[in-house]
Formats: sequence, structure tokens, C-alpha cells
Amino acid sequence: MPVIGSLVPASLAVAAPTRRDFYKELGVGTFINAAGTYTTLTASLMWPEVVQAIEYASKSFVRLTDLHDAVGKRIAELLECEAAMVSSGAAAALTCGTAACVAGTNPEFIRRLPDIAGMKNEVIVQKTHRYGYDHAVRNVGIKFVEVEGEAELERAINEKTAMMLFFNASDKTPVSAERFIAIAKKHKIPTMNDAAADAPPTGVLKDLTKLGFDMVIFSGGKGIRGPQSAGLLLGRKDLIEAARLNTSPYSDSVGRGLKVNKEELLGMMVAVETFVKRDEKAEWKEWERRCKQIIDSVSSVKGVNTEVKVPQISNRVPHIHITWDEAKIKIKPKDVVKALREGTPAIEVTPSPADRVVVAVWMLQPNEAEIVAKRIREVLKSAS
Ligand SMILES: *Cc1c(COP(=O)(O)O)cnc(C)c1O
Repeated sequence: MPVIGSLVPASLAVAAPTRRDFYKELGVGTFINAAGTYTTLTASLMWPEVVQAIEYASKSFVRLTDLHDAVGKRIAELLECEAAMVSSGAAAALTCGTAACVAGTNPEFIRRLPDIAGMKNEVIVQKTHRYGYDHAVRNVGIKFVEVEGEAELERAINEKTAMMLFFNASDKTPVSAERFIAIAKKHKIPTMNDAAADAPPTGVLKDLTKLGFDMVIFSGGKGIRGPQSAGLLLGRKDLIEAARLNTSPYSDSVGRGLKVNKEELLGMMVAVETFVKRDEKAEWKEWERRCKQIIDSVSSVKGVNTEVKVPQISNRVPHIHITWDEAKIKIKPKDVVKALREGTPAIEVTPSPADRVVVAVWMLQPNEAEIVAKRIREVLKSAS
């Protein structure tokens, strides 16, 4: 066999990749993530299967809308909903889904957003459900109509109502999800539920569309461990089709900047596949093991108290709350956080109230629970 490679001019041969330590080169520090899936801390690490899919995607050209269609169909089958689309994040899904309710599939309206003159342009929301991320809904040009209670909600509905927005993780929900959906259905108003940070558990990916929300949103790069620049918009077929027309690759649309390419599309699809298949019980057991390891270590310092808490809706995973008697251990929680951040290896913990240190174990990599256990103990011990 002739060696074909030998005929390729050296200048065109693909160089063997060198192993570069980019973060070191750039002087950008890495850290052990005992915080959780925070965007500013780059959220989660993708499943190896997702990285493989992204690499696969990067090697051929495809027609983008064909891939969008096919991936959406596969995700909808997996999550047992009518339709699905991959967005460039949960916030992007909020914008695209809102645009679907305001401009729909009307080409003139799509081109004109965020100028909403002559369109249905009001979004009803419970006052307690206003939050930072609703900026992504306002990007479409809509006006929020805030309501308190069922009667006011029903009175607010009129011919300008485009959509009703629900924030799944709100700690105050006077009008329950079930009643919210029932009222919306009675008046034929589409509903959207932002559940960005609410998976795991696995079931929630199917439950909220089955409950009757017309659109449900998840972050791709939080607990699902897909690309951090991806998200999911799940729900009614007509609305997903309209959402697709209001975003990239269509140049003259409000969502053109919210592009997803083939890498995010395949990466997100494989993240969903991997996430729903994983052994949820074994995963939880491992988290409990990590908690025990950290608790055993830090509670050996006299005056330290620990408690494991699981938030009810978002980030529904074990968090260790560490408090201590400051008469015995003379250091403030914020200075423990600083010592962990500035130590070697650097450790980030969950942002929390000033009276405690909170550790999330779900983003730790193998053998890191041991390191976190040892470092927190050292810092507390040295102040006692
Ligand atoms: C994180 C989050 C978002 C934004 O998610 P991205 O995927 O980063 O765009 C939106 N809504 C809520 C409730 C979130 O927690």
C-alpha cells in the first residue's frame, strides 16, 4: 500500500494537536466547584457524551433548519411533549417563546419586533413572579401587567393579552399552576413556565407540559449538563413553529442574536438523552456520600454545626449548611469563603446568607469531596 499521506504537501498536512494548558497560559484560575450551577462560574461540566456529539457535529456541514427540525422532533419524543426547540439558553427561550405569542408567524410582525404597535402586546404575570430574567420577555417590546390573586388575574385578560408568564421556582405563588392554566385555557391565552433551574429531578422535564403549560423552559447547561449556551423550549407545536420563525437563522427577527449552531443542537439533544437515562438513585447516593464525608470532617472541629437542606424547587439537590459558635471559632463565614477561594486548590462555595457557609456537592468531580472536606476543616480549625 502506498502511503497517501506522503503525497500531501507538508503545509497542508493536519498538525497533530499539542496539549495546551490554555487556562494556565492565560492566567485564568480554575477551581473546585462546591457552589452549584452558577452562570458566572460556568455552571456545569458537559457529559462526555455531549462533548463527543459536539466534536462529531463540528466535522460536517448540514442545512441548519433540517437539523433544528430533526433534533426538536427527537427531544419532543424523549420528553413526551408536542414539540421542542433548542435555544441559546433559557433566557433566549423566554424571548423566542414570547415573540411567538406576540408576532406569531406573521412576516410583517416578525420583522417589526420589538415595535409591538397593533399586536397583542401585554403579558400577564403574578406580582410575586417578577424576576431578573423577565428582561428576556421584555426584549420583545411587551408590557407586563402585574396581578395579585385569581380575580385580578381574570380581570386583566383582554384582547391585547399575548401570554401569561409563570415563574416555577417563585417562593410565593398565590395563583397555583393548576388554576393559572385553567384560567388561561378558559380565555385561550398561551402560558409559559420558566423552570430553567428545576431539573433534576428527571420527571420535571415531562411533568410541566403534561400539567398543561403551553410552553416550558429549561436551561441546557445547568443540571441537565448540556452546552451552557443552550436551552429548551418545550410545548405546543404551533407556538414552537412560530418561535423558530422569530429567531436565527432568520436575519430580520428579534431573536437573530440568539443563534444556535449544529454543535449546540446535537450537544443539547445528547444531554437530554444522557440526563433522562442516568441512574437518578445512584447519583443521589453519591451526593449523600459526599455530604457525609464533608460533614464528618468539619464537625470534628468543636463548635461546628451542620445540616443538609434540599431546596424545594430549583437546585433540588443536597446542600450542606455549616454554622459555628463564633465565640469558639473566631472567623466570619465570609472570611471562610475568602480563604477557600484564595487557597490551593481554590474552592468556590454557594452564595449564602452572612451567617453560614453553604456547600453544594453535585458539581464536584471524583475525589474533590475529600479535598473540600479537608480544606474547610483546616480553615475552621486554624481559627479555633
Ligand atoms: C438560569 C436561569 C435562567 C437563564 O438561563 P440560561 O440558560 O443561562 O439562559 C432563566 N430563568 C431562571 C429561573 C434561571 O434560573
